[in-house]
Amino acid sequence: MKAELIAVGTEILLGEITDTNTPFIARELANLGIDVYFQSTVGDNPERLEDTIKLAAKRSDLVILSGGLGPTEDDLTKQTVASFLHRELVTDRTAMAKIERYFSETQRTMTENNRLQAMYLKGAKPLSNRTGFAVGIFDQEIQGPDFLLLPGPPSELEPMMMEQVLPLLKKTYLGDHVLRSRVLRFFGIGESQLTTELADLIATQSNPTIAPYAKQNEVTLRLTAWAQTDTDAQKKLNDCENRIQALVGKFFYGYGEHNSLAQVVATHLIKQQLTIAVVEGYTAGRFSTALDEFSDEKNVFDGGFILATNTEKKQSLIGEFNVSASKSSVEKMANCLKKKTKSDLSIVISHASTEKVSSGEQVGSVWIAISDKNENISAKKYNFSTIRPATKQRIVLNALQQLND
Ligand code: ATP
Ligand code: MG
Repeated sequence: MKAELIAVGTEILLGEITDTNTPFIARELANLGIDVYFQSTVGDNPERLEDTIKLAAKRSDLVILSGGLGPTEDDLTKQTVASFLHRELVTDRTAMAKIERYFSETQRTMTENNRLQAMYLKGAKPLSNRTGFAVGIFDQEIQGPDFLLLPGPPSELEPMMMEQVLPLLKKTYLGDHVLRSRVLRFFGIGESQLTTELADLIATQSNPTIAPYAKQNEVTLRLTAWAQTDTDAQKKLNDCENRIQALVGKFFYGYGEHNSLAQVVATHLIKQQLTIAVVEGYTAGRFSTALDEFSDEKNVFDGGFILATNTEKKQSLIGEFNVSASKSSVEKMANCLKKKTKSDLSIVISHASTEKVSSGEQVGSVWIAISDKNENISAKKYNFSTIRPATKQRIVLNALQQLND
């Protein structure tokens, strides 16, 4: 199964907008195990669009076009595909009723081009547009490739893809098989190191497939398995995950596409009904914000102090919460903070002043101390070769990870 993606729009060629549809579609197809062999961009020009479609039809089994389904003069995708396939356009009554209702309710005048948004290739399957007006189209050809036409705005394309297209593609191309995915999340290991550790596994593994994906300071692996039954697919996922955990399990922190480390930690604290007090001697509230974002309904974040480095006046105001960092001082602060705030846990993030190392390089080091509900204290030192805003975000993730351990 060879798929090809074509993004239609002069704005993309001019660099006025960034094409996010192509990577979005490509990723979703990869999850289904459908290979994308070509991606291209073409302007709103009928001749060049037709050339692009011709070429795609020769070499691919599924051609997916995004954009150019709208009501303006430059929206030509549907007409060009129809003319290439020598097919008539017919009206989707439900979509047309929605457009007519909109125009009558807003007392605007409807044009012929607005009607065009409700039209699709005769014999194809129209896809309803929950967040807009232009219908999508899925056309299965007896000879030649299948065509899928999607609206350009991501706010229309993405829900249409998730709600209608993916189930349709599964049914059409994967038959009776069930497809199951699992996302594993890692922190403290880079994408290249992770893929090196798993190189053999990734190379020899075809069901499930293993797809690494790097985000800011985090890496995820998406495992996708297909099988006759849900149980079989889950078993394949379990076996594969066990092999991965054996190799890089110490960097694993959670499951799911959107579960950030902060969310995992906050959810855990909420479940255990624990509160935490915070001293941020370097991260300027970033840690508190990260945790607070996911603890709305139940307050786990119990307040604390945000200190700037080297502000002696402020330090003396709050006594023991001195930002000078050494193992014993951060431990003492964590203890003291817990006592004063009566929180279940406390955390101190403190920046040791930059040190001169032998190479002459300036190195920043940060101490993070956590006092847990049983009065156990863990203090760890982290070294950073540079200190930038991105580093502060990394420090927050390290703090969350230390809390998660
Ligand atoms: P409309 O009904 O809005 O005209 P359309 O299907 O005709 O939708 P286009 O006219 O090609 O789509 O694009 C409309 C808008 O959708 C663009 O201005 C842009 O904001 C967004 N868009 C289109 N294609 C892409 C893309 N590949 N990636 C991201 N955004 C896109
Ligand atoms: Mg348009």
